[in-house]
Amino acid sequence: MIGFLQRLGLSSDRCISCGKVFVGFSQGYLCNECLGSIKPFHPIDYSNRLEYVVSYRVFGRYEGVLKEIVHNMKFKSSKNLALLLGKVIREHLWEYMEETKPDIITFPSLNLRRLWIRGFNHVEYILRGAGVPYMKVFKRRDMHKPMAFLNAEKRQKAVLGHRLKEELIDFLEDKKVLVVDDLLTTGSTIQRLAYLLMSVGAQEVHAYFIAKA
Ligand SMILES: [Zn+2]
Repeated sequence: MIGFLQRLGLSSDRCISCGKVFVGFSQGYLCNECLGSIKPFHPIDYSNRLEYVVSYRVFGRYEGVLKEIVHNMKFKSSKNLALLLGKVIREHLWEYMEETKPDIITFPSLNLRRLWIRGFNHVEYILRGAGVPYMKVFKRRDMHKPMAFLNAEKRQKAVLGHRLKEELIDFLEDKKVLVVDDLLTTGSTIQRLAYLLMSVGAQEVHAYFIAKA
């Protein structure tokens, strides 16, 4: 299958991280060496407090192989890479779920512009890859460019585009919610989402990130 995809130009014959040509079986993205090298990073610096968030956990630092995966998943719109990443973080995420015991696991909604370009929400596919049941509680009302291209003021405006689905507002009362996202940078998005959840009576909000920039 991979060979067929490679001939069609839909899959590479080189590892996206180290560039080595694949030898033997591979999923088409990473050589087994690079794949095996992805481990939770210790120690992550948790001194940055996130407002409205009771606790948060980060899988790794945004560098090396992990950075390559996240970058390729987003900019090459690869569902398979998102599923693969889900498998990589699976154990680490489930451990955190055991600790926090959330009633609901969810993720930020993409703005329409990004969803049109990418065609899918990568965090949703990460959760599928990790075998985690999720519920979509957020929606977006804006068309901003990716946060990375925005200055501080525009970022602040962009995060205000996040909304809760009105039909779920009653349901969220007294619930423990875990929000999963790919990157922790300034924390402005997660703080906005946690604020929304707490404002409708959620009991507590926890957060999980694939990587910390
Ligand atoms: Zn490699």
